[in-house]
Amino acid sequence: MNIHEYQAKSILRKYGVATLKGQVAHSPEEALAAAKEIGGALWVVKAQIHAGGRGKGGGVKIAKSFDEVSDLTKKMIGMTLVTHQTGPEGKVVQKVFIEQGCNIAKEYYVACLIDRATGRAAMMASSEGGMDIEEVAEKHPEKIIKADIDPTIGLAPFQARELAFKIGIPNENVNKAVKFFQGLYQAFVETDCSIAEINPLVLTKEGDILCLDAKMNFDDNSLFRHKDIVEMRDLNEEEPSEIEASKFDLAFIKLDGNIGCLVNGAGLAMATLDIIKLHGSSPANFLDVGGGANKEKVTAAFKIILKDPNVKGILVNIFGGIMKCDIIAEGVIAASKELGLKVPLVCRLEGTNVELGKKMLKESGLNITPADDLTDAAKKIVAAVKGQ
Ligand code: ADP
Ligand code: MG
Repeated sequence: MNIHEYQAKSILRKYGVATLKGQVAHSPEEALAAAKEIGGALWVVKAQIHAGGRGKGGGVKIAKSFDEVSDLTKKMIGMTLVTHQTGPEGKVVQKVFIEQGCNIAKEYYVACLIDRATGRAAMMASSEGGMDIEEVAEKHPEKIIKADIDPTIGLAPFQARELAFKIGIPNENVNKAVKFFQGLYQAFVETDCSIAEINPLVLTKEGDILCLDAKMNFDDNSLFRHKDIVEMRDLNEEEPSEIEASKFDLAFIKLDGNIGCLVNGAGLAMATLDIIKLHGSSPANFLDVGGGANKEKVTAAFKIILKDPNVKGILVNIFGGIMKCDIIAEGVIAASKELGLKVPLVCRLEGTNVELGKKMLKESGLNITPADDLTDAAKKIVAAVKGQ
């Protein structure tokens, strides 16, 4: 689960991570009131969307007066912000964060994340803050410093000092950086983050070390023990089909192709996406209905696929181990009868109760093309979609 920058900063503050004063605003009036309360003579109006790269896209603006704060807010709320992380369709800005402005001397990067290779948390830092870390990793991998964290010890003070020195934080500010890194690690662990990224972390001209941008992503499997974080979920920022799928506990991810996929098992679902690509088309979604799905769940899954206007064909690929093929057939038939099946459907069923499943589909009166194996199924659906 993702949260907004202003929410991430509210969490980080509790762990002693230094941030500037700021308040969220949903209207120019709220923005003005926020700026007055924050005080000072310089504010930054920041679009709150679940995507980075806002600065370059026009979603981070400096205001030097109260009038500018409300004018910029007026322009920003309702605008469609396109960044390299939103996709070409962009995201509509619903709220802004009004933050105190600061005098930046230097921008750095720091993040705490799970390193799959070591199976542990790691802290990564770089002197190259404020820009895309992927670009730094590609062009200047030597400028990314990494510390592997022993879970029984946590981020040791010497590791935090080493990171600070290696990214070039001036000696006199190292202690502040150490406190910052340790707070960040503590927040990461205690809230079950999968990533907590600060880009940029800044050194101000006054010598403060501050978090200027924050992105926090949480492990969905741990959300049951973080009710306060679940409350921060912003459904406006999520894909409607994914919200619907999550109600039925379906592993569903929307993609940008045109072949809808209903599969059981994450591995088979990945293989299905690959084979569709191999034969020249693109999948519209990843979907694993799971092993123990019932008719209601399969029906809900199939409905989500049918409702996607981008879907020009559907591939059902089931290997019935725990899952029974007749349950899949039931769900497909029920959803198709309710919503109408207007696109070609190719079904590859194998395993438990396969004969019964095939018979039900055949007798349903629906226009279904049976397939024998994965390649056959992929070729048939790709041909059907291309032939339209
Ligand atoms: P994004 O990563 O989405 O572009 P950031 O929050 O990182 O958004 O902001 C982009 C840039 O704007 C930062 O790198 C920093 O230079 C500047 N900036 C952001 N917040 C402030 C602030 N409170 N005061 C001064 N400059 C800021
Ligand atoms: Mg940033």
